Amino acid sequence: MYKTILLLLVLSGLLACNSKGGTPSPNEVKNVSEVPQKEKYIPVFNPDSAFSYLKKQCDFGPRVPNTGPHRACAEYLAGELKRFGAGVIEQNADLIAYNGTVLKSKNIIGIFYPEKTNRVILFAHWDSRPYADYDPDPANHRKPVMGANDGASGVALLLELARQLQQHEPAIGIDIVFLDAEDYGEPAFELLNRRDTWCLGSQYWGKNPHYKTKPKYGILLDMVGGPNPEFSMDETSLRMAPDILQKVWSTASKLGYGDYFLNRQGGSLIDDHVYINALTGIPTIDIIDFSNGRGFPEAWHTVNDIPENIDIQTLEMVGKTVTKVLYSE
Ligand SMILES: [Zn+2]
Repeated sequence: MYKTILLLLVLSGLLACNSKGGTPSPNEVKNVSEVPQKEKYIPVFNPDSAFSYLKKQCDFGPRVPNTGPHRACAEYLAGELKRFGAGVIEQNADLIAYNGTVLKSKNIIGIFYPEKTNRVILFAHWDSRPYADYDPDPANHRKPVMGANDGASGVALLLELARQLQQHEPAIGIDIVFLDAEDYGEPAFELLNRRDTWCLGSQYWGKNPHYKTKPKYGILLDMVGGPNPEFSMDETSLRMAPDILQKVWSTASKLGYGDYFLNRQGGSLIDDHVYINALTGIPTIDIIDFSNGRGFPEAWHTVNDIPENIDIQTLEMVGKTVTKVLYSE
C-alpha cells in the first residue's frame, strides 16, 4: 500500500457520533451495543498457528510476481484453502506493472459455506514488494521485501481463520480472497506519478468479482503483525464503511485492545479496499498499522520486514477481534 497524506486528526467521540447517525452514511448505522446479543460460540484463534503460516510463506522467499517463490507460494495457499474445506477459485490474470512488465498474477479465493446467502468477505494481499525503496540504506532499494508483515501477516491470519471455519461452522458464509500484485507500485526511485500502479490484483478482482451472492461487507487486513501497532481509521474506511469500522473497533475494545485500535483518523492511503469499495460497492474497511509517526511501521518497505520482527501478540489481537466479529454475526 502507499500512503498519500498523513493526517493525524484526533476524532474523539467519533464512534458515538456515528452511532447517533451524526456522520453521513449510505446505510443506517446500527448501534450494535444497544441490541441484546445472544451468546454465541467464538472459536479460540491460535496466534502460534497463524505465525506458522506466516513463516511458511516467508520460507519460500519474497513472493514477487514472475518468480519461483511466487509460483510456489500460490500453490501452497490454494492447497491450504482446499485442505481447510474451501471451494477454491484461482483467478489468473496478466496485469501490467507501472514499467510495462507483464505480471503473471493470481488472486486465490476460498469460499466457505457457499449455501449461506448472508456473507462476509475478507481480503489480504499475498505478493511481496520487489523493491525495499524505503530502506535506510540506498544499496537495498532494489532488493525485494520479504513482506513478513506487509503481505504474509494478513494471509497468515486468514489461514488460521480458515482452519477455524472448517472446525466451527459460523452462522454466515465467508469468502477469503488472497489478492496478488498489490505491492508492485512505482518505486520511490522512479516516481513518474502514474495513476493506479498499486493494487493491481484488487483492481482486476473488482472488475471481475467471483461471487454470486454479494457479501454484505468486507474486511481487508494489511500489516497486522508488527510490534506496538497503531490501528487507526483511514479516510476511505471512514467514508465508505463507518458502521463496519464501529463494529470492529468496538469489538477490539471489548476484548481489551483499545490501546491499539484507536479512535482516531490515521490518514489517507491507497490500499486494496479503495478499489474494492469503488468497483463493487461492498463497504470494506482496512485494518492497517499506521504506527511509528511516519505513517507505517519501521520495517515497511525495507529489508527488515522479516519474521524476526513480527510480534505474535499483534497477530493474536487482530485475529481474536476478527474471529469475534464474524462469529457474532
Ligand atoms: Zn507494501
